[in-house]
Amino acid sequence: MTDSFHMDPEEYRHRGHEMVDWVADYLANVEDYPVNSTVAPGAIRKALPAQAPEEPEPFENVMRDLNDVIMPGITHWQSPNWFSYFPANSSGPSLLGEMAAAGLGVQGMLWSTSPAATELETVVVDWMADLLGLPTAWKTAGVGGGVIQMSASDSAHVAMVTAREQLREQIALDKMVVYASDQTHSSVEKGARIAGFTQVRIIATDDQFAMDVTTLEQAIAADRTAGLTPAFVTASIGTTATSAVDPIRAIAGIAKREGMWCHVDAAYAGTTMTCPEFRHHQDGIELVDSYTFNPHKWMFTNFDCNLYYVADRKPLIDAMSILPPYLRNEATLSGEVIDYRDWHVPLGRRFRSLKLWFVLRHYGAAGIRHHIREHVRLAADLATKLEADPRFELVAPHPFALVVFRHADGNEATTQLADALNESGKVSLTPTTLGDVAAIRVSIGQTSTKARHVDSLWSMIDQLA
Ligand SMILES: *Cc1c(COP(=O)(O)O)cnc(C)c1O
Repeated sequence: MTDSFHMDPEEYRHRGHEMVDWVADYLANVEDYPVNSTVAPGAIRKALPAQAPEEPEPFENVMRDLNDVIMPGITHWQSPNWFSYFPANSSGPSLLGEMAAAGLGVQGMLWSTSPAATELETVVVDWMADLLGLPTAWKTAGVGGGVIQMSASDSAHVAMVTAREQLREQIALDKMVVYASDQTHSSVEKGARIAGFTQVRIIATDDQFAMDVTTLEQAIAADRTAGLTPAFVTASIGTTATSAVDPIRAIAGIAKREGMWCHVDAAYAGTTMTCPEFRHHQDGIELVDSYTFNPHKWMFTNFDCNLYYVADRKPLIDAMSILPPYLRNEATLSGEVIDYRDWHVPLGRRFRSLKLWFVLRHYGAAGIRHHIREHVRLAADLATKLEADPRFELVAPHPFALVVFRHADGNEATTQLADALNESGKVSLTPTTLGDVAAIRVSIGQTSTKARHVDSLWSMIDQLA
């Protein structure tokens, strides 16, 4: 310990090497941990002091407590036996990019506060637009553009605020209506609340859990008759419960006709658009106003890393920019640079593009496609086994790598099976309900999930059913 209290670069080098070893050991052995943490509520807090230390502590003690106190309370999202929710992938190149970003410690709110942070972001969002088959006009050279945000929720919230601001001069906020399906992610309803919309219509879905366009049309007509103005609609490519796909072209067409904003939520399934055979699910994408996708789910990039694209960046920047005197600078005033702080809510920005750039260069598009196709194939194999067995039923189509099934004996048997699987410690899956039907979601997409993991999951389902 030096007089300064700081960790000097040489000690950091030494501890850093240890930490890389620690993470590498963790990832090498993660399969052996019980996937779901079994600690009781409050146990971790109780094991830690109520006050921050007054005196400096040796770093060994911090590492000891990381191992002894924190690790038992970890839910192992990086386990190849992780089938819960959606994945929250990480990967070697992503972790290294994150480390470089933390080491540089830049705050990239403006181009001038670190030009490379802005310009690399522009490069990777443009690369991603091509990889996902998004319209060329959404690239920075066009009228649209992309930006990296923290979450798909933030993207939905920003889209709603932008839509609201566009209409605000002519329409009172309490006359504007937001439409979403009964399968739309909860972030949309929350975004409506945050943006101040009071009128939210939840549109019914069809037997495939896709938004029923006829019901949407009827709701719009009823609202028009009541003197209200349709303002915003969300269409999903891959809903959270079942990965259902809404008819993008039809919904976007209605939105255009009605003059309302159409936002597409492809938070999970966006990754599959790197593979051309999935692009039919985004047919009509050139008609929408905004689109969001999370590389931090199923694209080997650790949380947080969300992409948000707009077809036209002007209304977004109009809604989000404010220029106080302390942010004025020559580059901004010249109009020649992008200041991404004007593309979302926060001012401060992490250097998130670095890890995405590392991932894209390490895997190449070919590596990403390889793993996505493999996960989709493993999901299809599992679905085939479930379908062929009279004890089980699939409750939804599986266009990507999420399989949703139930026990044929009904809700109680399904819930019991989900509990038995989760309590085994060997796997983690998410139980859900669709209407009155209890179901089990099996999301295949963790970075290191291979055929043998899905095979052993199937054996467990077979034995415990
Ligand atoms: C996960 C998910 C979200 C929320 O993503 P965050 O980045 O955690 O906000 C939104 N929509 C869908 C369809 C999702 O699957």
